[in-house]
Amino acid sequence: MRVRPEGRRVLLKLSGEAFGGGAVGVDPDVVARVAREIADAAARGVQIAIVVGGGNFFRGAELSQRGMERSRADYMGMLGTVMNCLALQDFLEQAGRDTRVQTAITMGQVAEPYIPRRAIRHLEKGRVVIFGAGAGLPYFSTDTVAAQRALEVKADAVLMGKNGVDAVYTADPRTDPTATRLEHLTYGDALREGLKVVDATAFSLLMDNRLPMVVFGMEGAGDVTRALVGERIGTLVTG
Ligand code: UDP
Repeated sequence: MRVRPEGRRVLLKLSGEAFGGGAVGVDPDVVARVAREIADAAARGVQIAIVVGGGNFFRGAELSQRGMERSRADYMGMLGTVMNCLALQDFLEQAGRDTRVQTAITMGQVAEPYIPRRAIRHLEKGRVVIFGAGAGLPYFSTDTVAAQRALEVKADAVLMGKNGVDAVYTADPRTDPTATRLEHLTYGDALREGLKVVDATAFSLLMDNRLPMVVFGMEGAGDVTRALVGERIGTLVTG
């Protein structure tokens, strides 16, 4: 994995839950802080593509458990991610960075359509590219989209920014006091130990294509910048 900030290209996945600051909707203070941290790393020459989750609005699986048809609920989830993208775009531009939002569901008034080669061109020009509306496909998660977009834009690594957990542990540290924090593991280790690092589809895409992943917590001040510039943070997972 390339470690120098200059010329490093990364795909950053941001948890939607973090954007909500624990509530439904967007917490502007959280988004502004994350945007400043992204802008700092971009100013140091890191090429940054972002996938934002939508868990602060809707999760299709949860809505379907409460009686909605799953695909329609998933589309609501995808539309929620676009609101997060627009909030992030706004604060990134306030922090002085050029950005482009590209969505997998076309909505020409607010964003470009997803065009991978165009996204790469934006990255080369130093623009931060934010991918919204997931894959445009029900039954997918934004973690899976992060893995797919990272591969398609030829990122050096995928950085999974989590809410409420700062690394991969041997068990859930919130419920199990014996949980040990892991600095580095391989995809094979994670499979053998049955560690739930990301969802299974994202996991298999990353493992099959040997793309390194960093799992880190996005709540600590400066941690998003640290992950973006390639400092050691969270857990590194390699092929
Ligand atoms: N979603 C989807 N297809 C995608 C990406 C997302 O159907 O390609 C829907 C799905 O319902 C998901 C919701 O959008 O629950 C929000 O995304 P996610 O749960 O991955 O957000 P996060 O947990 O990262 O905030």
